[in-house]
Amino acid sequence: MNILVTGGLGFIGSHTVIELVKNAHEVIIVDSLVNSKIEVLDRLHEITGVKPTFYQIDVTDEAKVEEIFLTHKIDGVIHFAGLKAVGESVSKPIAYYYNNLVSTMVLSKMCLKHGIGKFVFSSSATVYGDQPSPLKEEMALQKTTNPYGETKAISERILTDVSQANDGFAVSLLRYFNPVGAHESGLIGEDPNGIPNNLMPFVTKVAKGKLTRLSVFGNDYETADGTGVRDYIHVMDLAEGHVKAIENLSKGVNVYNLGTGTGVSVLELVNAFMKVNNVDVPYEIVGRRPGDIAICFADPEKAEQELGWKATRSVEDMVRDAWKFEVDNS
Ligand code: NAD
Ligand code: UDP
Repeated sequence: MNILVTGGLGFIGSHTVIELVKNAHEVIIVDSLVNSKIEVLDRLHEITGVKPTFYQIDVTDEAKVEEIFLTHKIDGVIHFAGLKAVGESVSKPIAYYYNNLVSTMVLSKMCLKHGIGKFVFSSSATVYGDQPSPLKEEMALQKTTNPYGETKAISERILTDVSQANDGFAVSLLRYFNPVGAHESGLIGEDPNGIPNNLMPFVTKVAKGKLTRLSVFGNDYETADGTGVRDYIHVMDLAEGHVKAIENLSKGVNVYNLGTGTGVSVLELVNAFMKVNNVDVPYEIVGRRPGDIAICFADPEKAEQELGWKATRSVEDMVRDAWKFEVDNS
């Protein structure tokens, strides 16, 4: 297939491009570079042997998006492009709603106009809100605690309505849990601007000595060691999930959790990082972070049954690959 990948130079998009190329798909990347670097394109060339077609455009710009639809024969769209910093979304709600919702509307509109019937969307486990894990796709969604989360819930709703109104428009809504790690080459990985908000990139920076110590947000949750529990998933497992999702897309709206099904606490992740990489990660326990929930992990059964996809990489793989990327690129 010829697949348009929006946000294809970002963390998850770039790893997915590798898997798409590996599975003989042609990739057209569009990215505004608002949160990624052009060097990633050369890294993708180095890893895959193929230099994908690339356009630096903002996917909220309908005229520019349409030019791409007119220039290329496109069979499907994987829409990663979006702003994703939860805290920033609270202080800049309009930027988040505008970017994340207009991009989804422009792309789905262009798909309808140009007869493209396959659309895969990056959603998030955040749409479940605070419900008991394991989280299942059929659970009712809850209001999220920030504008970022709302953009995911509203985008899901928009795409569902568009699909229901247009028989030939099939959608896959992929709810990611906590993507971490990097490609095993160490050539691409997670490279956030500024001080990371997420646990794994923060840990790698502390281990490297770029940040003094990790703040562990709370050890008084109802979990085995009191720290928050999440379902960390290796980004290459996630990338493989996207290939399965677009190759096996059924008619209508399809919702899948992409997670491992296993909850891991903050301290378990930090201890695994130190042990596997033989490096120290100084940390201190501080108060809870507002908006955090205690436990969040997937029931990943549906994706296995319907897509034949299952995460195979371990926590050890995740911490090793995350560290390799940090060491090789700093
Ligand atoms: P990322 O920031 O690394 O990648 C997103 C890419 O989209 C960046 O390269 C950015 O430059 C680009 N982009 C943003 N707005 C754009 C626009 N209007 N036009 C063109 N390009 C634009 O983020 P990521 O971690 O790879 O996340 C990819 C998607 O998955 C996002 O939609 C994110 O919300 C979603 N998601 C991420 C996580 C996570 O923890 N990383 C979890 C759940 C869902
Ligand atoms: N966390 C932490 N210190 C940090 C960043 C995160 O203790 O500097 C914890 C956070 O409270 C949560 C887990 O690590 O329990 C994962 O947080 P992250 O922001 O990576 O993902 P989230 O699940 O919140 O989207």
